[in-house]
Amino acid sequence: MKVAFFGFGSCEGCRYRLVNELYKLTKVEGIEIVREPLLGLSSDTEYDMAVVEGSITTRDVEEVKRIREKSKFVVAFGSCALLGETSTLGYRLGLRIEEYVKDGYMDALPVHQVIRVDSYVRGCPASVDELACVLKALASGFLPLRYERRFEYEKTAELVLDDGFLRLDSGKCIVCGRCVDLCAHLDVHALTQAYRGYQVTVTTPAQLPFLEAGCVRCGLCAAYCPVSALKYRSDVERALELAERGGRAVTERLALEAAAEALGVNPGQVVSLLKELGFSEVEVVDPLTLVSGAEGLIPFSTAEERWVKQRSPDAASLLKPHVKLPASKDAAVITVCVARKEDHDPTITAHELAEIAKWSRIVLEDLPAEPLSTPPVGGVKVAVGPEECRTAVESYARNPSGTLVLQICPGGCARGSGMPYRLLSQR
Ligand code: SF4
Ligand code: SF4
Repeated sequence: MKVAFFGFGSCEGCRYRLVNELYKLTKVEGIEIVREPLLGLSSDTEYDMAVVEGSITTRDVEEVKRIREKSKFVVAFGSCALLGETSTLGYRLGLRIEEYVKDGYMDALPVHQVIRVDSYVRGCPASVDELACVLKALASGFLPLRYERRFEYEKTAELVLDDGFLRLDSGKCIVCGRCVDLCAHLDVHALTQAYRGYQVTVTTPAQLPFLEAGCVRCGLCAAYCPVSALKYRSDVERALELAERGGRAVTERLALEAAAEALGVNPGQVVSLLKELGFSEVEVVDPLTLVSGAEGLIPFSTAEERWVKQRSPDAASLLKPHVKLPASKDAAVITVCVARKEDHDPTITAHELAEIAKWSRIVLEDLPAEPLSTPPVGGVKVAVGPEECRTAVESYARNPSGTLVLQICPGGCARGSGMPYRLLSQR
């Protein structure tokens, strides 16, 4: 059976993985790869089976229909093909660029919404081992997974958990397990997998509301979810409305630096960007300066506060109030910590700010770099990550003196849940 690979709207990660692990497919009896442009095989040859990666934009519809007509079998490969994901990211902020829409780039759909699909391989990136099994089954005439998407087998109702802060939509989840691992790494275990076989999905234990399940609202699971099945609350609209009314912005210095790095500009230019968006004044704060000179066990956000109370109840009485940015009602907060959304509304993350900048059409390179100055911080001990925080809390409980700041995110705030996603994956 001749197999041809096609790529549409995606990052192409699944196909590069496929090319790197091609030897797994060469071991499958009865198949021959006749088309894969990444290998230099790009002629419009005859084939029996098409493996389609990526989501289908309106300009791809005719081509994918032609592929369907030529193929006995079509396999949708990876999350973009199953769920339309990467190409639809622009919709996350509810913003559209009209000329893209006109050119047909934006209305991305999963493959099965455009043509009939015979089988699916889920994942981001998708598993080449699983693809090898599917191709083997199709080539041998045994087709176990026909016409159905990952979650449409014997699935009962899709599960949605939403407490206004965090939302989990099991209909989108590809069960990659990143969120479950991260939450367990924090020693929180608020997320788990439920059901068996094709019905497996991610939820909280006994499907309890997040807080009852022990969630500390760190936001890390949402930051690392590759398909936005987990999302944290978005205050973007309210922040932009406030900017239009001439409100103020109070930003962590680290959030400015992170947004600047993601955008390839100077942090001072991000201050100018905030003013272009309408903020009348931009106050830059290093939150560590807010605890300089204070004595005690200081949680950096509500997430650390909950974490200590749940894990070390004996040390809870030693806790001082968590660090809060000095933001009045007429201000929007900009942060690298999703937990700060609990303190103030609107609060936007450095990730959200970088996304706003990309969609704003403001030419960042032309903006002046405003000078930044925050006082130096001295004498503050910071415990970073769950392991270090656990040990530091135990030792502080034995000898409570000095200032100890807790940051439970692995890698601390520099890898906080509000960091631009691209930087998180690099660090
Ligand atoms: S927000 Fe943090 S604590 Fe809550 S479920 Fe996600 S990773 Fe776990
Ligand atoms: S990170 Fe997202 S896609 Fe992966 S298991 Fe969790 S909810 Fe599902």
